[in-house]
Amino acid sequence: MNFNTIKLFKNKIYKINICPLCKTSKAKYHSECNKNLYSEFLSKIIGISEEDLIKKINNYQCSNCNLIYKNFWFRDNILKNLFSKKIKIHPKGMDIYNKNFNKNFFLNELKNLKKYYNKNLPLFNKSKRTIGSIINAIKKQSPLKNRLLREIDSDNPNIKKIFKISTKVSKLIDQPKKFSRYVGYNDISFWNFIKKNTTKINNYAEVGCPSWGLLNKAKEEKKKIFFYKRNENNFWNEEKGCLKKSKLAKKEIVTNLKIINKISLFGIIEYLDHLNDPLKFLKEINYKSQNFFIILEKDNKAIQHFTSWENKSLKFVAKKLKKKVKFFNNYTKTKNIIIAIYY
Ligand SMILES: [Zn+2]
Repeated sequence: MNFNTIKLFKNKIYKINICPLCKTSKAKYHSECNKNLYSEFLSKIIGISEEDLIKKINNYQCSNCNLIYKNFWFRDNILKNLFSKKIKIHPKGMDIYNKNFNKNFFLNELKNLKKYYNKNLPLFNKSKRTIGSIINAIKKQSPLKNRLLREIDSDNPNIKKIFKISTKVSKLIDQPKKFSRYVGYNDISFWNFIKKNTTKINNYAEVGCPSWGLLNKAKEEKKKIFFYKRNENNFWNEEKGCLKKSKLAKKEIVTNLKIINKISLFGIIEYLDHLNDPLKFLKEINYKSQNFFIILEKDNKAIQHFTSWENKSLKFVAKKLKKKVKFFNNYTKTKNIIIAIYY
């Protein structure tokens, strides 16, 4: 990395010297981040190559609480720019409404892939990601899915071969997998599971993407619901996207928990790994609610996630909050998630 690149970084990112959870400093190198939509945009905002960004920002693991966190993190204005200008609308959340999980959309996206190949790299990559999302959400098992993913991801993709496998893969497209980006967590058996493992629910609150969680299921059972809309630099504002689509009533959206007395159950869904100070946030949630649960994607160490969690880190939280925690790490085979219920 040359001197100018290093200088550029200085104003845009800062070094993380202590664990964001337990505040100790001993940590080991863990892994590199993969390129994705966020590394593409972040490198543009900073004005460096995506390669340099990936080289600079790595995952480290705390030797005390096992939390995995980034060794450098983006300054507030960079994250604000990313989520308020570059990626205003939550792409995964919007997939709930877009109805893009179907054969025609898939085959059409393959045409785009061919069109942009060797002509427009950002659009080619976008097509690649969209096709990858659909393949990953296909419920039916088949070795063809991995073959296609590998071919699309290779440095020298063979377009002819891709089309040949795709025609076969397109025939597997039926219902999306449980908890995939096309359906989210709004699932009756999951709601029943959560109820079985928590307290009696009078009211239910949630934070994360408003289109993803269990708010609708709680509402269908006439529970009072709240969506907690926090001011968070490293998360979508959702105003024009999922929040609008979710059709929540005004009184169901709260920006300050002080107006609520007590919450029976609080759901924190694919959100915790975005935060700079996760413990401070969890203390606030714990203070307000009888029980709460955390859902996180397992092993997601993508660049836009400041942290990645294991059982040991989640147990550390329980100890700090003087709560008990139970884990359900194999709730579903179709998506790699951690469910931690605090009670
Ligand atoms: Zn730690």
